Amino acid sequence: MSTQTGRCYCGAFHVGTKASPQTVAYCHCSDCRRLSGAPVAAFAAFDPAHVVITPRWPDAKSHAKGVKRWFCPECGTQLGATYDYLPDQVYMPVGLFDQADRWQPQLHSHADSALPWLHIDDGLPRNAASSRASLTMASCDS
Ligand SMILES: [Zn+2]
Ligand SMILES: [Zn+2]
Repeated sequence: MSTQTGRCYCGAFHVGTKASPQTVAYCHCSDCRRLSGAPVAAFAAFDPAHVVITPRWPDAKSHAKGVKRWFCPECGTQLGATYDYLPDQVYMPVGLFDQADRWQPQLHSHADSALPWLHIDDGLPRNAASSRASLTMASCDS
């Protein structure tokens, strides 16, 4: 299996995965916008058993029921998130990874929350709300 590599902004935490993402998606929801500070976030879903964070997973934070998130305690970079209703998957920001150039998103989640001035004409499927019905995936807290 190939190895995917990445790190947080400051480099205190490195991530590695033994497999390519199960799903890659944009999320336009307001939670992801606040978390990332960017107009749209993009996440890759992995089997948690395939993900290694070095030196360790930091303590999880939970600000929404059923959602756990991990951040680098030094620089604040979001390392990943899990959702109780999406078991056996961890969602990690695509931008962490050295291989981000290869992971084109497959769909847009929460497209109805997209900023009106953001135009991405990629022809990908757009789901008004969470996309978990179509790809067992959702990148937001609601
Ligand atoms: Zn860091
Ligand atoms: Zn979201």
